[in-house]
Amino acid sequence: MRFDVITLFPALFAPFLASGVTRRAYESGLVDVHLWNPRDFAEGNYRRVDDRPFGGGPGMVMMAGPLARCLTAVQAQRGEAASAPVVLFSPIGRRLDHAGVQEWSASAGAVLICGRYEGVDQRFIDRHVDLQVSLGDFVLSGGEIAAMALLDAVARLQPGVLGDADSHQFDSFHDALDGLLDCPHYTRPEEWDGLRAPAELLSGHHLQIERWRRDRRLEITARHRPDLIEAARAAGRLSRTDEAFLVKVG
Ligand code: SAH
Repeated sequence: MRFDVITLFPALFAPFLASGVTRRAYESGLVDVHLWNPRDFAEGNYRRVDDRPFGGGPGMVMMAGPLARCLTAVQAQRGEAASAPVVLFSPIGRRLDHAGVQEWSASAGAVLICGRYEGVDQRFIDRHVDLQVSLGDFVLSGGEIAAMALLDAVARLQPGVLGDADSHQFDSFHDALDGLLDCPHYTRPEEWDGLRAPAELLSGHHLQIERWRRDRRLEITARHRPDLIEAARAAGRLSRTDEAFLVKVG
């Protein structure tokens, strides 16, 4: 899949794309990321990409012209018959979640636009943006962190990207574990600062370990996200043993 990121700060992406397990996805082109700077499509000696808001008020607004010319260049290079969706990061948008990330990870990609300043001239949004995506109910200084969040979450869902075969299946929200939250993790030493790792995990009994992990997932999810327990129940994903355990932990 291919993602074209339109950003005034492409340098922010260099260390991100070159670090951690997801680097493989970006370097192999499995998740093919192209960076574009609207400043390269700006006019005049000063290459302006922003200007003062009509009607007054604080801050600056990203101009429609440089963004539109940049997008035209992106679309020419992508050159597909059915053009990729144009996404703008914005507090207005649909909140990014696991279901959304799964949809993106099975898609052909998108054009991701990172706003800056007070935001983007509404006429560009009306003319070119297909959907808006939010990272949550707070305000960032730019869409870059939101773009990285989406790219990172999508990359780790690609087959073979995580070190252990598809270990994302064992992460929170994944269907393979019925959409529950993850269980706690422990590593060496067995005793640290007077605290022992759970005996079940040290037992070497596969079934006992699996039951312990399942119980912790149920317990944690029931406590922190009861809505996810309801969803799993409604989807018929909870066994009698699961239900009995949930009654026991109340
Ligand atoms: N004036 C805007 C905020 C502008 S912040 C408002 O009050 O809604 C500058 C840019 O950061 C935005 O254009 C957007 O691209 C990005 N941004 C800010 N908060 C975001 C969020 N919660 N999710 C995704 N992108 C966000």
